Amino acid sequence: MQGHPRDRVDIKKLEWAISISQAKLEEFRPGDWLNVREDLYRFVYGDGRDRSKAKFEKLTPEEIQTIQQHFKECFDFIAGGNLTTSLRIDSGLDYQLLVTDPMQPIMQRIIVDDCALAAQLWLLSLLTTSRLCAAQIRKCPECKTVFLLRRKPQVNKNYHCSHKCAVTAANRAYRLRQDEAMKQNKREQAHDSYKRKVRGRPGLAKVKIERRPRKPRRTN
Ligand SMILES: [Zn+2]
Repeated sequence: MQGHPRDRVDIKKLEWAISISQAKLEEFRPGDWLNVREDLYRFVYGDGRDRSKAKFEKLTPEEIQTIQQHFKECFDFIAGGNLTTSLRIDSGLDYQLLVTDPMQPIMQRIIVDDCALAAQLWLLSLLTTSRLCAAQIRKCPECKTVFLLRRKPQVNKNYHCSHKCAVTAANRAYRLRQDEAMKQNKREQAHDSYKRKVRGRPGLAKVKIERRPRKPRRTN
């Protein structure tokens, strides 16, 4: 996606959020946990260091699982074509407008004690400021992975999460067409042999043999 460098950063962050929402946490090794804590912190607070950093460094696997669950619900919600979701916030929220440079876009920062809530709020914030349309967060029709489509989709067109899935789908469509052509061929051969059989009977050499029209097959 073209646009302001910050838009690209937002898209990258959202892509990270989608990938973590589908990561296999049960296969994480100690190094992966360290990385995901760091990534989560950067997801919410960017590159700066502040008092929240220590809290993110202490996130337990269970807490990270909760965050993953929130992210997953959010992306499944959008990719599922749903319209409105709400998030009730109890308290302890400090929502800041942040100007790091007067010539750069105004930014926002959410300071909240609960890391999981901070991550969830930041995800919502990113989703609304990224200018993505909901149809850009979608499920791969092939492998059911949720992914972010960087360009605006055309209606009624299939998009896949990867080149691999697109190739698999194209191969299957090709095989279906081949099968259909082969069946058609067999039907024609059967009809020809039927014609030969009928015309072989006495007095029927010139008989006209029509095929009954077949019901059109539904394809998708
Ligand atoms: Zn896929």
